[in-house]
Amino acid sequence: MRILVVEDEKKIADFIKRGLKEEGYAVDIANDGENGLFLAKTNDYDLVLLDLMLPKLDGITVCKKLRADKVLMPIIMLTAKDAVKDKVTGLDAGADDYLTKPFAFEELLARVRAMLRKKSEQAQASKLQVGDLVIDLNTHKVTRAGKDIELTAKEFALLEYLMRNAGKVVTRTMISEHVWDIDFDTFTNVIDVYINYLRNKIDPDSKKKLIQTVRGRGYILKE
Ligand code: CA
Repeated sequence: MRILVVEDEKKIADFIKRGLKEEGYAVDIANDGENGLFLAKTNDYDLVLLDLMLPKLDGITVCKKLRADKVLMPIIMLTAKDAVKDKVTGLDAGADDYLTKPFAFEELLARVRAMLRKKSEQAQASKLQVGDLVIDLNTHKVTRAGKDIELTAKEFALLEYLMRNAGKVVTRTMISEHVWDIDFDTFTNVIDVYINYLRNKIDPDSKKKLIQTVRGRGYILKE
């Protein structure tokens, strides 16, 4: 589990980082809002701890920008003020929870655990469905209109990624980062080849093609 801590007060940031690392989490620190926004957009964190009062960009703005960009990782807002208005503003901006400073580390840890648990429960919702295409994440069973489809492990991973992002354009870079490892050569046409394998299995007889090419951008899976 990798956590981003956006906090400008070095003492607090170090304290949180040390504590979380002791619990086995990987932790990155950003000391201003701009850097926090950049890191949250470029890395796949499991959780963000976001201070409200930050140099360059305040926490509310960072949160709003992330949500506007469809970055959906859980965000816990850290606020020095106990004002109800701040909490409401934070939650309205898209934060999932908030914690008032000063807080006991145990409480922070409890909130982090609860949030990660919620996230993994959502992730474990065992079936994904788009139109009449259904995949079971536990058994790896795939059906279209009730008919079984046999996929290789790689094809399944690719389809799962497309299904999780259904309705959104995914670029070849995004696919390579999530389905292939870091050594993957993005200049090969392997992704296109796999997309074709998938199409041949998923879309062959159907009039409704689910996997569509978005010219110059990538692919989209939608009804
Ligand atoms: Ca601060």
